[in-house]
Amino acid sequence: MIIELQNAAATYQAPDGEVEALRDVSFGVEEGEFCSIVGPSGCGKSTLLSAIAGLERLSSGSVRVDGQEVTAPTPRIGLMPQRDQLFEWRSIWDNVTLGLQITGRNTPERQHHVRELLERYDLGDFARKKPGQLSGGMRQRCALIRTLATDPRILLLDEPFSALDYQTRLSVSSDIYRIIREQHKTALLVTHDISEAISMSDRVIVLSRRPAVVKDVFDMGGLKALPPLERRDSPAFAGYFNQIWKELDLHD
Ligand code: ADP
Repeated sequence: MIIELQNAAATYQAPDGEVEALRDVSFGVEEGEFCSIVGPSGCGKSTLLSAIAGLERLSSGSVRVDGQEVTAPTPRIGLMPQRDQLFEWRSIWDNVTLGLQITGRNTPERQHHVRELLERYDLGDFARKKPGQLSGGMRQRCALIRTLATDPRILLLDEPFSALDYQTRLSVSSDIYRIIREQHKTALLVTHDISEAISMSDRVIVLSRRPAVVKDVFDMGGLKALPPLERRDSPAFAGYFNQIWKELDLHD
């Protein structure tokens, strides 16, 4: 297992008392796997990703990456946030190489790798443009390339498509899926969108309401061989959707 959570628990100190976000979360992700986490809003999904990224400390339990306990951010893990967080005043090139500059790894080899990624994913002609000149989908691809620039082995994606309209979301999630597969990354996607989770992942992990525990894990079986848009057209899709929907506790 490249990611392993054992009995992860996290509690926040809030002005009106403690908020127990995660109670007892255990699961593993295999190298090269694409897993999604779905759960009711506020159940602790972002807390979980932050703990795996080393940005949040667990109150008990452990998170291990490559067998080593995570206690601080590591270059092995790249985080793609909810908004693309591109800096509007910087060119696309200066945005996608920002992580390299900050971490002192802006070497000619890395720059060459980033240039190849921009070319391969149809952004080569936009390197000198500003983010405002790009479509929503192109901005998401830029955000992913910025994350890939430092060559992490694991990508954590926190609702990366939530700011996009439905049509754009479908094509962008398909593009992002393709890039992650082609680049042989392990991915963990947090989403509230069951269809998105089924269309992109090998396994879907369903969390309970806060404080979160793992309610169920669904393997996408034969769907795994298909790309996202074809999965949505497959007869098996609705079956998975209904099973996960029943498991999700979305009602008051
Ligand atoms: P999700 O991503 O599933 O919507 P979060 O992980 O963001 O859930 O939050 C889980 C719970 O922890 C929520 O009740 C939220 O209000 C609370 N929470 C998150 N961050 C903090 C914080 N820094 N301080 C206090 N409470 C927090």
